[in-house]
Amino acid sequence: MEGSTSSVPPAADVAPLPLPGHAPLQAGAPCSGCRQPIMDQFFVRNGEAICPSCLTAQEGSFREALAYGLGAALLSIALYYGIFFAWHIKFVFVAVIAGVLIGGAVRRGARVSNRLGYRWLAVVLTYVAVAATYAHALAELSEVTGAFDAALRSLYLPLVMLWWRKNLVTLILLGFGVHEAWKFSAPPYVHVEGPFLVTPPAASST
Ligand SMILES: [Zn+2]
Repeated sequence: MEGSTSSVPPAADVAPLPLPGHAPLQAGAPCSGCRQPIMDQFFVRNGEAICPSCLTAQEGSFREALAYGLGAALLSIALYYGIFFAWHIKFVFVAVIAGVLIGGAVRRGARVSNRLGYRWLAVVLTYVAVAATYAHALAELSEVTGAFDAALRSLYLPLVMLWWRKNLVTLILLGFGVHEAWKFSAPPYVHVEGPFLVTPPAASST
């Protein structure tokens, strides 16, 4: 069988059977990820056999993480302004909800990758989403020239609040939101061993 997978080590590097702590895997046994039969190489992830393409897929996709994260950010902003325009309530607690939603959304695209870039993406998106909820209050100020100016000022408003020690509750909620984004974008525990070779069907006698 020719190696069709490019991102995994060639068969020459494969560890010899039997696998430490695992029963040998027969050729054709299903991958625990995609359920496709494994005919050649496999890896053991958290004690379960997976095929090389599932191992590659678990690295996630930055584009997907960005798309899901942006979606969650827009949803959080829509939630805030929906409540604001419907009931004239400043739902500042949305900062924490945004952190949870965006952190989880980024992790969905990142799969089990432990690259730190994904977590910073969640943090930055949460900061921008929460800052966007300050824009309407800024737009009412006389010195603010328009929507773009208000949006721009909202991005550094937390620094102004920190400097003048104003709106501390808002700042604390922003801090919580960013913390939730960091926490919910954390990768799950993953331990991968391998690659290993399957036991050929003919060589059943050991
Ligand atoms: Zn698979």
